[in-house]
Amino acid sequence: MAYEAQGYSKLIEMEGFSETQLNNHFTLYKGYVTHTNKALDILSTMLKEGKAGSYEYAEVKRRLGWEFNGMRLHELYFGNMGGDGSPDSAAKIKSLIEKQFGSYEDWEKDFKAVGGMRGIGWAILYHDPASDLLVNMWINEHDVAHLAGCTPLLVMDVFEHAYVFDYGLKRPDYIAAFFNNIDWSVVNGRLG
Ligand code: FE
Repeated sequence: MAYEAQGYSKLIEMEGFSETQLNNHFTLYKGYVTHTNKALDILSTMLKEGKAGSYEYAEVKRRLGWEFNGMRLHELYFGNMGGDGSPDSAAKIKSLIEKQFGSYEDWEKDFKAVGGMRGIGWAILYHDPASDLLVNMWINEHDVAHLAGCTPLLVMDVFEHAYVFDYGLKRPDYIAAFFNNIDWSVVNGRLG
């Protein structure tokens, strides 16, 4: 059965994000859901038809990682917005950040620096359950540089489509608006 796009209309009227900006982004997200389902359907059909070893099968299989991660990262991104931006009530993640980075402010500087990297992609705060380490990562496009076995706790979209309607090329202003709307209770909950 096809996976259905999740709804994030609760984010409309969030300060710093226009309705047009958000609705355009929701539409782009739905495209990833559609194409993830489509790639899975094509692969399943090709397998039944005995075409699993074909060049075409391999290319759709390669594409699946990009489509799937494009879908899931948007869900994590929209899911960690809609809050008041304060980590103060998110005790577990806040203390882990302070333990590792020395202070919340130093972690924030690092995460924002990752978000400001040239290119299109994502900034993600990962937690490694094996070592209990936190790592701020740059994900190129949707699929390059994910940390295997780690949990994405906080996800920030830095493709231009995430902010260009409201902020033009001023990515730092968008990142500041994003930070004002982080729902740290969700981030804390992802820590498990
Ligand atoms: Fe996006």
